[in-house]
Amino acid sequence: MTANSLLVQNLKKFYPVKGSSEKFVKALNDVSFTLPPNTTLGIVGESGCGKSTLAKTLMGLEDKTHGSISFNDNSFDNMSNKVKYETMQMVFQDPLDSLNPRKKAWEIIADPLLINSKVSKTEALKKAQELMAKVGLRPEQSHKYPHMFSGGQRQRLGIARALILNPKVLILDEPVSALDVSVQAQILNLLKELQKDLGLSYIFISHDLSVVNYMADDIMVMYLGRVAEYGNADKVFNNPYHPYTKTLLKSGHISQSEEIKSFPKLISSELPSPLNPPTGCAFHTRCPLAKDECHSILPEVESKNERSVSCLL
Ligand code: SF4
Repeated sequence: MTANSLLVQNLKKFYPVKGSSEKFVKALNDVSFTLPPNTTLGIVGESGCGKSTLAKTLMGLEDKTHGSISFNDNSFDNMSNKVKYETMQMVFQDPLDSLNPRKKAWEIIADPLLINSKVSKTEALKKAQELMAKVGLRPEQSHKYPHMFSGGQRQRLGIARALILNPKVLILDEPVSALDVSVQAQILNLLKELQKDLGLSYIFISHDLSVVNYMADDIMVMYLGRVAEYGNADKVFNNPYHPYTKTLLKSGHISQSEEIKSFPKLISSELPSPLNPPTGCAFHTRCPLAKDECHSILPEVESKNERSVSCLL
């Protein structure tokens, strides 16, 4: 494996169903991927597909049920929180919700540093101001409170806070979906510049396929907690294999391929409840290509030509 890669293998997160000791909601089921340095993995799927559970489980905000997460061959299970936070940080969807309204900008950015390392307040202020300049904010704004910034500026604050411990991996959970379209482009370009400058790897979670198309080197399409399709983003966008990927690309209107344009519509627009998922292939209740066997056989994730797909076809 390439040095400084994040390796996730067979990750599962099951939640017990209230009142039953045998039933579980399988929010994440056997998710595996490799994230080499300086690359972006886009994670897409409808809400409820497991994207946010994946982010929380990777960050340790939720305990995993099974599987392994390692960085540079070091298991997260054996890492101290300090080392974990120096390895991976997260940028949240809503900057206003994720920033403490009672703290000044520099305090918000410097918080992880003050908690994690023995630095003086003067040093922390200096580092926070340097990072503000790096993300396109003026260091003079460091004594302002979050409500005094625009939405885009607040997301820049969130990015600066995520960078203060010099992490190698950033999890970006819908980082631009709360912003105006014009501001979205600025933040996406900032993220691209930072990646180039700092050699960062991104896990970029979004429901917006055109944004993922712009950002991602690899893409993972998820459906009800499982991987539907995973591979090089250009190849998946230009030649998707899984029927679910095809319907997503068709509904996102971002593919020029005639095959995608003429691909049949979903049988149902409703996502089944994760509490009571369909038997066999979980997508069979909506899949326009479903066969009888799809109702009873669970397709394994199979890899071929650097592409992983879970479909009986
Ligand atoms: Fe559709 Fe069957 Fe493939 Fe599932 S296994 S995606 S239902 S064709």
